[in-house]
Amino acid sequence: MARSNNLTMCSFCGKGHSEVRRLIAGPGVYICDNCITVCKSILDKELSDDPKPTGRRPRVPKPSEIMAELERHVIGQELAKKTLAVAVHNHYKRIHWSSPHSKRTEVPIDSHSDVEIDKSNILLIGPTGSGKTLLARTLARILDVPFCIADATTITEAGYVGEDVETIILRLLQNADYDVRRAEIGIVYIDEIDKIGRKTDNVSITRDVSGEGVQQGLLKILEGTICNVPPQGGRKHPHQEYIQVNTEKVLFICGGAFVGLEKIIQRRVGNKVMGFRHGGDESNGPTTDPKDVLALCEPEDLLAFGLIPEFIGRLPVVSALAELTEEDLVSVLTEPKSALVRQFSKLMAMENVRLTVTPDALKAMAQEAIRKGTGARALRSIMERLMLDVMFEVPSRNDVAEVIIDGDVVLGEKVPLVRCRPNQRAA
Ligand code: ADP
Repeated sequence: MARSNNLTMCSFCGKGHSEVRRLIAGPGVYICDNCITVCKSILDKELSDDPKPTGRRPRVPKPSEIMAELERHVIGQELAKKTLAVAVHNHYKRIHWSSPHSKRTEVPIDSHSDVEIDKSNILLIGPTGSGKTLLARTLARILDVPFCIADATTITEAGYVGEDVETIILRLLQNADYDVRRAEIGIVYIDEIDKIGRKTDNVSITRDVSGEGVQQGLLKILEGTICNVPPQGGRKHPHQEYIQVNTEKVLFICGGAFVGLEKIIQRRVGNKVMGFRHGGDESNGPTTDPKDVLALCEPEDLLAFGLIPEFIGRLPVVSALAELTEEDLVSVLTEPKSALVRQFSKLMAMENVRLTVTPDALKAMAQEAIRKGTGARALRSIMERLMLDVMFEVPSRNDVAEVIIDGDVVLGEKVPLVRCRPNQRAA
């Protein structure tokens, strides 16, 4: 071989001195300029993919960036989205500022080095199906942190039948693939938080768990504690091994419908509040839009509702979500990235079938959802019902070109219209 005659050649690719631009010598080895370029690109790629601490804080998305991403998934609820974007941005800034890996200082934090930023857990108040869980879930996705949903009504005081508070953290840990460090910066959404109020006239007397005791149990994890999590779940046992998870940096978002809270707020604010008069006609007397009332919620109203003061204190950011209007529900069906109509269209497209949902059908579905009183939650079951026969039949046929759902189909007055491909018969 010609190359073996070269006295000096690249130890990596074997090219001789005359075949390359530069050949750099090491002790008994050589490397050419080409191989150096290849090695550098390998290193660059690996270092950019490397998740290990590099002495730099992870980038916290700006509130406007969080808001823009929420806009893509959540319809309406502008104030809640803005409040969450700011609260979540500050929360993760607080975490990364106190991180031992944090070396970069863009702001002269020395002057504020003794300032502790408090944790800002969030309380979302809004009717069922208005997007509370969706907001929390979307935030976790934007920030790429582990997320879990817990139901406050399944948690009971230690010693009672039901789940311990630690099971919430266990779920978070499981969703973080048992990576404790990742779980410790996750987001937990606790649903139905309004159902653990102290027993008042708005809580069924048949409940057998003391809401107040559950609130006490949640206090610690909300504030931040080292939580001993039984890895297999279930009740704690004295001889069991635990995984320790610090909840100090976990962001808790609590949500509930708080039925009856409007009345409490209204009683407090009375008629002194501006902006409730419709059409500016004072003679009509003040009328209050319930969604505007919720936005006026103060800690004392939550206290009157049945939350204990310490618990309210752990949820300093409160945001109200409005009931979705007919127009909103039409948007929910079509606009978000994974809107229902888009999902079903994709399923049909896999069969080479076009799905057309007419504007009057969208309107009729929104109206039906409003009648059901479960907000956007009802939309999926409505859509599933309408599409059941179509989804059953279409995969067995090869002649269908288009399925059309109009208002009459939604009202149950006719079946979806099926347009066939010319010159094709059913299989
Ligand atoms: P909540 O927690 O308020 O009871 P969810 O967030 O669980 O309601 O909503 C149920 C479903 O309804 C969601 O998965 C989502 O598809 C849809 N949905 C609810 N609110 C909205 C909204 N504001 N924008 C888009 N979709 C929504």
